[in-house]
Amino acid sequence: MLSVSPPEFVDREFTKPLLCGPGPADLWPSVIEAMSKPSVTTMCEEFYHVLDDIRLGIQYLFQTRSKLVLAMSGSGHAGMEAIISNLLGPDDTLLIAARGIWDERALGVAKRYGNFTIVTEVPISNTFDFEHLESMLKKVKPTALFITHGDSSTGSVQNLEGLGKICHKHRALLLVDTVVSIAAVPFLMDEWEVDAVYTSTQKALSGPPGISPVAFSARAEHKIKNRKHEPPFYFDIPLLALQWNCYGNSRKYHHTISSPMIWALRACLQELAKETLQKSWERHTRVANHFHKRIQELPVKFLITKPEDRLSTVTTVVLPPGYDYLQFVKYMREKHNILIFAGLGPTVGKALRIGIMGVNSTIEVADALIEGMTSTLKGLKKSSL
Ligand SMILES: *Cc1c(COP(=O)(O)O)cnc(C)c1O
Repeated sequence: MLSVSPPEFVDREFTKPLLCGPGPADLWPSVIEAMSKPSVTTMCEEFYHVLDDIRLGIQYLFQTRSKLVLAMSGSGHAGMEAIISNLLGPDDTLLIAARGIWDERALGVAKRYGNFTIVTEVPISNTFDFEHLESMLKKVKPTALFITHGDSSTGSVQNLEGLGKICHKHRALLLVDTVVSIAAVPFLMDEWEVDAVYTSTQKALSGPPGISPVAFSARAEHKIKNRKHEPPFYFDIPLLALQWNCYGNSRKYHHTISSPMIWALRACLQELAKETLQKSWERHTRVANHFHKRIQELPVKFLITKPEDRLSTVTTVVLPPGYDYLQFVKYMREKHNILIFAGLGPTVGKALRIGIMGVNSTIEVADALIEGMTSTLKGLKKSSL
């Protein structure tokens, strides 16, 4: 006797909005196509080729010659959890440079692995200066410093050039979240001496969430080889490195990596290789500059005061008094079919978060947002009278 009857699935109507939140972004047409490619088993030549292509694409993406590059099954958080759990054990201290929600998440992850954590903060509209971070490194002597490159909760971009050297002077590793900055904002892993980095497909790479590139420097690799703790099996980098053939001649099964995901990631990296990093950075900068210039036609204010700290992928703006953030987002969706987001974490009730990235990073999308926002500002004023 079955005690549960089969459910009836009703197909609801769904009009896809233009995805202009802090993620996910719309997909490249080639990525949509790639996801319907045949399923490949984890033990066949074609699967090996796809993984090899992806590893080359990730080395280009992060600008690293490191061999220890692969992709984690899971969204951006899987990358975060992988780098923290592989590099830090209960005897280690993680210094977290906090200016938004992702650093808070890193804190939540680190605590679960019993890492000792110290948080140093700046106000949400600021970024860190290196003197501040160096004085903390001197004082805390952490195993690693965690910092977010682009912060999608506040809309700021952190300068990282030179930070790796400072960390290494104080014997700390540098761990970086590049989820919402990679491919849109310059990032040079080897040149900047970054030790562990993760990103996600769903932001400026214009792919689906579900597979997340990570890379480790030689220093980080040394730390992993000599660690005394064990990370979760699913996130164990040395085991995954055998599946991803990071050192040559190993195709060891660890888990079944999703076929649509590896095809999608390969297509994202192929789009980037075709456009090139420099051109992609330039495009995101040009479109963000255009959007930031035009947004000044509206009665809104930038949350991030210094123009050089503004992130090109996610713009945060403060609405004039009297407007409700959630209502604004709802109106944009209902009347203009554009999806933007209200605040998250420290910016709840304080800012709108507007994402222009990946395939959506075009002047047309920026202009459509300005038009939609102009009409929403007018429309909501009328309805509240
Ligand atoms: C979106 C985002 C994440 C989380 O990624 P998920 O794919 O949702 O797990 C982490 N860091 C930053 C900076 C992000 O923008």
